[in-house]
Amino acid sequence: MTVESAVAVVEMLGGAARTRDVVAQGVRKGDLTRARQEGLLLRPRVGVYVTPATPPATVEALSHRGRIACVTAGRAYGLWILDDRDQEPVHTWIDEKHHPMRIAIHPEPDDRACCAFHRDVALDEPTLTCVGLLHCLRQILACRGEEAFFAALESALRQSLIDDEARERLKLSLPAASRWLVDFARSDADSGLESLVRLRLRKHGLVLTPQVAIPGVGIVDFVSGDCLILEADGDTHEGPSRHRDRVRDAVAMALGFVSLRFDYALIVHEWEVVEAAILAAVSRNLHRSTAGLTW
Ligand SMILES: [Zn+2]
Ligand SMILES: [Zn+2]
Repeated sequence: MTVESAVAVVEMLGGAARTRDVVAQGVRKGDLTRARQEGLLLRPRVGVYVTPATPPATVEALSHRGRIACVTAGRAYGLWILDDRDQEPVHTWIDEKHHPMRIAIHPEPDDRACCAFHRDVALDEPTLTCVGLLHCLRQILACRGEEAFFAALESALRQSLIDDEARERLKLSLPAASRWLVDFARSDADSGLESLVRLRLRKHGLVLTPQVAIPGVGIVDFVSGDCLILEADGDTHEGPSRHRDRVRDAVAMALGFVSLRFDYALIVHEWEVVEAAILAAVSRNLHRSTAGLTW
């Protein structure tokens, strides 16, 4: 075994591994030490080695004897995270048996502001570096509220990361007042923006039909009533798709539909503008037409 093989074993174990698991693969501790001295591996705390490609947030959490959690873990899981803050600390989970103190190799002053610490009880099995997915979602609800949770949950459902049993387990772990969100969630939201729109309009009693296929137009994000199309555009609506969107709107109008189109900045940062537009359209009955869809 050589220094290179020590690195190869840590990579094989997922890029982060406990010393004992690396040694169990036949690597000598001396090779691990040399790999660290040569900068080929990092040791965020005693007993854990990671490759230099490990995200800084993961190294930070590990250095506290913790794991990435909440919105930080959500991003690592590929969930849609409602990004409404300028500065985001690392969200770190530390189980109840440990303290959020940094157990550093080169001790630094303990800086409690460096991470947003979570100390809740686990809901599913964590990995060495990350809380379980259900635990992550429940933390997002507690830390960021219902909208961020709902958007993250729908993106997990869309990617089939959660099966029915896990969905039920998550629901039962939530405060009773929030459980309806799990029932309301669907697996066909194209983006978190759609999740937000559907959730926010629900309080106005507006029922939206998602992902409606309209002949000649294609699939639209939502139809309200029978002919009001609502589209929540992510960042894929620039360039050639911008023209395509205009064509869709024109064809839809010719068929008797009215389209309202909103982008990320409007939905996330200026919701009141979006809300006023939709409510005005509905109050003028633009969502009701004999020319539109007949349900
Ligand atoms: Zn958090
Ligand atoms: Zn920290």
